[in-house]
Amino acid sequence: MFPPFLDPLFYLLGEAVFILAAAVLASAFLGAALIAYSFKTGHFFMARIMLIFVCFLENMIKSIFRAFRADDAIVDEVGIRLRNYINAEKFEAVPMDERAIFLPQCLRSVDCPAKLTPEGLRCVNCGRCEIGAAKVFAEGLGYRFFVAPGSSVIKRMIKKYHPRAIVGVGCNMEIKEGVDLCHSYDIPAVGVPLLTSGCVSTTLDWDRFYEVISDHRGYTPADEDEDLKIKICAGRPDKN
Ligand code: SF4
Repeated sequence: MFPPFLDPLFYLLGEAVFILAAAVLASAFLGAALIAYSFKTGHFFMARIMLIFVCFLENMIKSIFRAFRADDAIVDEVGIRLRNYINAEKFEAVPMDERAIFLPQCLRSVDCPAKLTPEGLRCVNCGRCEIGAAKVFAEGLGYRFFVAPGSSVIKRMIKKYHPRAIVGVGCNMEIKEGVDLCHSYDIPAVGVPLLTSGCVSTTLDWDRFYEVISDHRGYTPADEDEDLKIKICAGRPDKN
């Protein structure tokens, strides 16, 4: 059908496609191996390269996990830890009073009396869920604190208050999208995944959340130390 002089061209094209497919497959296996290693040991090896694997070959890596009867949720978990690991230094270099926290509304009590405002739900610390105590604690550290019913509120608050670092809570998918959104604004963000996700009554590892927002100094609202904020703020970098 095609003239014979094109045969070498098709041959080269076929070879190139084969080499490309083999390279992608090998990268996916390498990515899967690195992710499994990181999940098991808690250490990240070639973190930025791993993140590229996770971003571009996620579905293929998950298929490899499933083929080996491993839980493919590990890929999401490690993907979030990787993003946090890569952003941690820049995040912690920002003073706490220039950071913002976004919690999802599904974390609140089903009997929550908070009213919806243009800045999200206005928590009145009624005591029906942990959000009220977390808000008081976080605002005491200097954070802006939002309970966001959707990503439009997050974008609006970023444009309004220009936070220089962000903590986001959500399901794995929301965190991945949120951290990538912040990256597009050049804002270092760290994510704390929900323990159980869904539309209502979700749960969070609050100790992990407090670890992140206090820059791993181990403070929580349960601390009765009156000098808490002074001690935490003593570790802040100077403002430029
Ligand atoms: S503490 Fe805040 S978020 Fe939780 S139920 Fe009360 S008003 Fe709603």
